[in-house]
Amino acid sequence: MKIFCIGRNYVAHAAELNNKVPDNPIIFMKPPTALLKNNDDFYHPDFSNNIHYECELVVKIKKSGKAVDPEFAHLYYDEIGLGIDFTARDLQEELKSKGLPWEIAKGFDNSAVISTFLPIDQLPSPIEFSLYKNGDIVQKGTSENMIFNIDSLIVNISKYFTLQQGDLIYTGTPAGVGKVEIGDILEGFVRDEKMFSCRVR
Ligand code: MG
Repeated sequence: MKIFCIGRNYVAHAAELNNKVPDNPIIFMKPPTALLKNNDDFYHPDFSNNIHYECELVVKIKKSGKAVDPEFAHLYYDEIGLGIDFTARDLQEELKSKGLPWEIAKGFDNSAVISTFLPIDQLPSPIEFSLYKNGDIVQKGTSENMIFNIDSLIVNISKYFTLQQGDLIYTGTPAGVGKVEIGDILEGFVRDEKMFSCRVR
């Protein structure tokens, strides 16, 4: 399986990191070894002093597709989860400033928290989600604020990569990203439903 992630898919988040709003989706990938499931603890890696949480809706692909036509994009998914795209912001900024690839800042082990999945037909649209850190809300998002919606992401990604059953798409984070410290507890919600809990150790 493959893990696709989308950068700068919410205007307010692009602005908070002083990035331009993109003309096309910014696509990057994490390896399957990045997944952190079952509410497991996240062990803070020692190669970074600035690990950020980015809470994101995650789409699970249900069948293979290549160069998917926009009118059929909705047929390629029927489940939505919630996750965190952990980012070593210090490494990412350093590598970006040198024009170098920043895989290590995004794809390291356990950098992709993933919840269980909900059938999309049981979710009211737009899909509202939130992240709490130590009991305080730090991120609040809604699918209607995505610059590129889910169908558009599927069309764009499948131009370059064949989608396969079980692939995941982390659809980008709203504003409010921030640093985690050892001892923090991160809890993600879709509407009122708790999707995951993750302790930083
Ligand atoms: Mg992200």
